[in-house]
Amino acid sequence: MSTTAPRLLQVRRSERVTPRMIRVTLGGKELAGFGGDGPDRRIKMFFPVPGQERPAVPRAASGGPVWPTGEPRPAIRTYTVRRFDADAGELDVDFVLHEGHGPAAAWARDARPGAWVGVSEPGGRYEPDPGADFHVVIGDETALPAVATVLEALPAGVPAVAFLEVADAGEEQKLPGSARIHWVHRGAREAGGPLAEAVRTAEFPAGAGQAWLSGESGCVRDLRKHLLDDRGLDRRKVYATGYWRAR
Ligand SMILES: Cc1cc2nc3c(=O)[nH]c(=O)nc-3n(C[C@H](O)[C@H](O)[C@H](O)COP(=O)(O)OP(=O)(O)OC[C@H]3O[C@@H](n4cnc5c(N)ncnc54)[C@H](O)[C@@H]3O)c2cc1C
Repeated sequence: MSTTAPRLLQVRRSERVTPRMIRVTLGGKELAGFGGDGPDRRIKMFFPVPGQERPAVPRAASGGPVWPTGEPRPAIRTYTVRRFDADAGELDVDFVLHEGHGPAAAWARDARPGAWVGVSEPGGRYEPDPGADFHVVIGDETALPAVATVLEALPAGVPAVAFLEVADAGEEQKLPGSARIHWVHRGAREAGGPLAEAVRTAEFPAGAGQAWLSGESGCVRDLRKHLLDDRGLDRRKVYATGYWRAR
């Protein structure tokens, strides 16, 4: 967690991006000075527990974060800054409405204008290598918000391919940039399996590439190994993060 206290923000509006993805637009006085957007910027989100109006958030202190006493701790999950507009004072976060019954997805589904949530300072930032011969971007629907920001940041004129697993054709989104997008439909199969198969059997552009991949943790681990061992990508050029774990 960052050393500054999380900001308490309020929902301005929400809209369905696809049947299973909801975009929640946040705003509020405490959004002033937020650390901006860019490729793959992550935030910790603090969700109120049922029956609570505002989540408890820690106060920044020199010895580390200090939690208010006597208040239940929030559920904390990691999300991506899909869009930050300093002028409009708005922050968009896209939530997958998965079927795993988690507090974050449930909060996003039910969030009405005025609902409170805590948001940390954004961390991370992907640095596309301007010298890479090609770029590979791999992810599932939880990664789509980050994928959109990564694709936007890739250098023009360099071959780029993306492999993206979603439930079905209705979950495909319009994405920025000029990468060749391969949508992979999961259907009734286990998360990550169809994506791993698509990547393993794909032809990559020639040369030394750079890869960004995120999604279900087991799949990410498997594909990272594939990129290093079978495709010979340089370990420093493979940026992999497990986003969630199938149980
Ligand atoms: C750096 C980073 C960035 C992320 N950005 C985003 C983002 O922008 N948008 C987004 O939607 N997610 C994002 N995620 C993933 C998100 O944090 C997880 O999906 C998280 O588990 C959701 O919390 P929850 O409270 O809804 O479910 P949890 O309480 O964590 O999990 C409850 C159950 O749901 C299952 N589950 C969790 N996620 C999924 C899923 N996607 N599909 C199927 N089952 C699932 C779990 O296996 C568990 O059984 C990101 C994760 C990381 C690490």
